Amino acid sequence: MKGICILGATGSIGVSTLDVVARHPNLYKVIALTANNNIDLLYEQCLVHHPEYAVVVDKTKALAFSEKIKDSVIADVNVLSGAESLEFVSTLDSVDSVMAAIVGAAGLLPSLAAAKAGKIILLANKEALVMSGDIFMQAVADSGAQLLPIDSEHNAIFQCMPAGYTSGMQAKQARRILLTASGGPFREMPIEQLINVTPAQAVAHPNWDMGRKISVDSATMMNKGLEMIEACILFAMRPDQIQVVIHPQSIIHSMVDYIDGTVLAQMGNPDMRVPIAYSMAWPERFESGVEPLNIFDVRRMDFEEPNLERFPCLRLAYKAINLGGIIPTVLNAANEIAVEAFLNEQVRFTDIPLIIERCMDQFEVIPADTLAVILEADQQARVVSKQVISELAH
Ligand code: NAD
Ligand code: MG
Repeated sequence: MKGICILGATGSIGVSTLDVVARHPNLYKVIALTANNNIDLLYEQCLVHHPEYAVVVDKTKALAFSEKIKDSVIADVNVLSGAESLEFVSTLDSVDSVMAAIVGAAGLLPSLAAAKAGKIILLANKEALVMSGDIFMQAVADSGAQLLPIDSEHNAIFQCMPAGYTSGMQAKQARRILLTASGGPFREMPIEQLINVTPAQAVAHPNWDMGRKISVDSATMMNKGLEMIEACILFAMRPDQIQVVIHPQSIIHSMVDYIDGTVLAQMGNPDMRVPIAYSMAWPERFESGVEPLNIFDVRRMDFEEPNLERFPCLRLAYKAINLGGIIPTVLNAANEIAVEAFLNEQVRFTDIPLIIERCMDQFEVIPADTLAVILEADQQARVVSKQVISELAH
């Protein structure tokens, strides 16, 4: 029986994780669930899974949550609040596995704490890795933590790696990664119409049901840019070894190209319960609740090269990783600010890459070798991006 802590339990990945957990009650026990502020959903989840701890980051919402459970059957759940409580629950002795599914930079400290504490980290929070690549992987190596990627592409790549492979290793016989992308909702929209895209259009992804931020990232393809950086870090590859491939059907979740000409692909229905169940059962497998793939329904699979004029965010991600140092951290922070501004209808869809590039251009490349440097770059980039937004005259 393994104890699991789910950071970001109320999000899209959190909900899918609890669905898988519920299918294996004799293998997993929920120790802690965390939410930012959605206490109604957290309450429902606590009723079903009865964790020892529930973290509500927002302090006012945490008080309301304590009030809500007071006379209920889950009155004995320990309610904590504040961001520091996330680190507390992700390092508890009774926790074996930590699902890192908070969105954005807010997930960095608790994910890193889990890495330092030697936990099995089920990593969905790609932003944390993009920000802190080297020090995160060093923490994993030093503590003997096990890092299993949840992002469907990285999970696919991990599954296509040689036997005995662990994250961070260089697989010498693997010469290239083919990182697949659906291309999002605007793959075929005339480029001049992108300027009028609304938040509602951008979050409506054709193949995957995800949180709002990652849905916008998929529409700009910044998601693939972050994933390219994530792949360089997880699989010790150079950026020029990662080829992004648009595959609109999202059936192949990525491929590894070996020196003998073999290309291994992992396929399945586009449902995050597949990579979640794989990582939870690893090194075994168990049921995920996902329908078997009907290959006859798929009928055909298409592949095309991404157009960097349509998707400038992808170009910016290559620029950031090639510059290195703190620049990927800056890219990530600027993107978070730009996406938030777009979702709040303060800027246009096509302003997103503009804001990010103008922000990136204001930073010098310095090594991202301490957590302090990384957090400082993250904060500075947020300030600079907001400045850039205020200068955009609309
Ligand atoms: P989501 O928006 O649905 O959920 C985010 C979760 O994080 C929620 O539980 C929320 O309460 C919590 N959260 C948000 N801000 C927080 C803060 N400041 N402090 C603490 N908690 C906070 O997002 P999601 O789609 O589930 O994505 C989560 C992560 O997984 C992201 O990093 C995303 O890139 C990655 N991911 C998601 C998918 C997917 O299919 N949804 C696929 C691959 C990777
Ligand atoms: Mg992905």
